[in-house]
Parts: sequence; structure tokens; C-alpha cells
Amino acid sequence: MFTEDLPIIQAVIIMSVVIGLYRLCTWFMMKYQPFEYLLEGKPVYIVENGRLVLEKIKEGKMSHDEFFSEMRRQGVEHLGQVRIGLLEVNGNFSLVLYPLDDTRYGLPLFPKPYQAVQQVQPDYHYACMYCGNVAYLTQAHELCNRCHNKSRRWAKAINNEIVT
Ligand SMILES: [Zn+2]
Repeated sequence: MFTEDLPIIQAVIIMSVVIGLYRLCTWFMMKYQPFEYLLEGKPVYIVENGRLVLEKIKEGKMSHDEFFSEMRRQGVEHLGQVRIGLLEVNGNFSLVLYPLDDTRYGLPLFPKPYQAVQQVQPDYHYACMYCGNVAYLTQAHELCNRCHNKSRRWAKAINNEIVT
């Protein structure tokens, strides 16, 4: 009996190891997506002049969440505070901020203000939730003339100065 069972046990162990490794790889890739950029071996622009770099988000290589969270961690409240956001080869995220008196309207990075508006008011600035483009709107679901993203979601832009 024992010798007959052995191959089954071996098979079960091998299967478990394979499944375990697969899960580990998946988890690793999800958690450390920036490693993909590291493989490219060069710094990657994520934010330029207060807006997300369009090519990167269109390639689908970038998820907002990772970089939003990194910017929040560095005390940034909205994209209008950021002149350059760069993912370094070593995985660090470098920020160059606008001087206080040059802070502009930008896409909020914190969850509460990062919400799609349902109505717009004239003379208010709104930020495209996909690319960070800031514009005046006449209706809540206008097409963004920068990214042309189908979601047509806009958040109310803010222009608070960074607290240093
Ligand atoms: Zn846009």
C-alpha cells in the first residue's frame, strides 16, 4: 500500500510547490510593478508639468494608485504641486515641486477629493481623473481634449500650496 501511495504523494507535493510558486510570482508582480520599470534601466517620467505623462498611462504600464500613494507619502496633495515626478532606476520616486507662488490647479491625489463630479459650475477648474489635465467645463462628462479617455470623469481641481 505504502509504495503504491508514494507517487500520489509526490504528485501532490509537486503540484503544491508549483501552485505556491505561481502564486508567489503573481503576488510579487502585483506588489512590485515598479520592478518592470527597473528592468528598462532608465528613469521614467510619470508626471510632467502637473499632469500624468500620457504615453505611460496609455501603454497601460502605469496604475495611478502606486504613484498617487508614493506622492501622498511625500506630502503632495495634488498634481498642480508637481513639476516633475520621476521613477528612478533604483525604484525611488523623485519629485520636483513647483515653487509655492507657482502652484497651479491640479488633480487631487487623496481619495475624498478624487471623485468624479456630477455637475459643473462655471469658472471652476476641473481635472481629468485619467490624465490630470485641468480645464474649465460646461458639462460634467466632457471628453478630455488631452487624453480622450472614454470614462469622461472629472474631479474638482485644487490649488492648495504644498505644506513644507
Ligand atoms: Zn485627460
